[in-house]
Amino acid sequence: MTTQEDTTHHYLQRAFELLGIDGGTARHLLAPTRELTVKLTIPMDDGSQRTFEGYRVQHNWSRGPCKGGLRYHPSVDLSEVRTLASLMTWKTALLDVPFGGAKGGITCNPKELSVLELERLTRRFVQAAGPLIGPHTDIPAPDMNTGPKVMGWFYDEYSKRNGFQPAVVTGKPLELHGSHGRPAATGRGCLIAARETLAAAGQELAKTRFAVQGFGNVGQWFARLAVEAGASVVAVSDSSSAVINPQGLDIQALSSYKSETGSLGGFQGADKLTPDEVLGVDCDVLVPCALGHVLTGTTAEAVQAKFVLEGANDPCTVAGDEVLRRRNIRCIPDIFANAGGVTVSYFEWAQNLQQVRWPESQVNERLDQMVTAAHGALQDTMRRHDCDMRTAAFAVAIDRVRQATELRGLA
Ligand code: NAD
Repeated sequence: MTTQEDTTHHYLQRAFELLGIDGGTARHLLAPTRELTVKLTIPMDDGSQRTFEGYRVQHNWSRGPCKGGLRYHPSVDLSEVRTLASLMTWKTALLDVPFGGAKGGITCNPKELSVLELERLTRRFVQAAGPLIGPHTDIPAPDMNTGPKVMGWFYDEYSKRNGFQPAVVTGKPLELHGSHGRPAATGRGCLIAARETLAAAGQELAKTRFAVQGFGNVGQWFARLAVEAGASVVAVSDSSSAVINPQGLDIQALSSYKSETGSLGGFQGADKLTPDEVLGVDCDVLVPCALGHVLTGTTAEAVQAKFVLEGANDPCTVAGDEVLRRRNIRCIPDIFANAGGVTVSYFEWAQNLQQVRWPESQVNERLDQMVTAAHGALQDTMRRHDCDMRTAAFAVAIDRVRQATELRGLA
């Protein structure tokens, strides 16, 4: 079985070959700098005790403090966190934000935990990982199943020991030193990445039909903003249900329906699908915004879209990526497509350090500039090396990390 770690190494290897990097430099760029595993024992609501496993991996800090999300999911393990930490190194470099890459996670099923149990678990993680975390060393952020509420607890627990340090974590609620525009940032960044890529291919965003897998933070914001921009979203799924309307879904109504009922199933004005069927619906751009490795050698054969926009981290296996390449389906890679979140996290961190707050228009404008600039660097590299967008994205990022590493010196 291919692990997510193998997938990232495969893509990196392709870019190393393109750049003529081998030996010690390649090994240094592949290996995580620091890994932490923690045991988190908390009291449960029924009076029993349970122990959970948590991780923080700091992959590379040549370009600045480590930055990356914290994920709560039953499938979290050290190998997955390692891969995601590595992706953060390349993502921050590609967007040219002054961070290195990190990721964290706790192996748990948040759906089976009460709010109080989740809060205790989060606070225990901050206590255990605390010595590695800090506004100038490692700054966590939300990921799957961790939103502003979890970030608020994180900030509070860290501040108990370290005083007023809002820049220790990003994606916080607005009332707790969060940034305007942060909740929508990843979805907004995806849309800007799609707009630029489609324009370079001579296609208009407003005439584009999207299908979205996953209706959480990324998928929901992306769908909402895509419709606002005049495009249509023809199908949407979550973990247990999916809906389709070839004429375009009413995303605002679907969001309200999902928050009232907890499900997409039964939504009026759409037909029902199974969640897996969304990957193969007739559309221009497929947008996976849920788990990793959903596009395999088998599922990628069913894709009807001309583009895959990787809202999720690492949604393609190596075999899935090969199938998409063979079928001339163009992938807009995760380290570019979903980098809007870390970009606005950088804005939040900068605002916290300076004790200022930017208006939302400024956040959105600067995000647009940075994603558009990254697209320009990608296009140049694709032209120069005659390569696909994923290889170009890794090549731009690797080159920047390599330069920073060399300039800092090894002694
Ligand atoms: P989330 O927890 O808010 O939402 C995840 C969604 O995926 C939920 O709607 C869930 O029901 C759905 N889902 C889970 N399994 C599914 C399945 N088998 N089929 C269809 N849907 C399924 O998480 P999120 O923050 O939106 O993150 C989603 C992805 O985007 C992750 O891969 C994450 O690493 C990546 N990402 C998130 C951010 C961010 O800022 N939140 C930034 C960059 C990348």
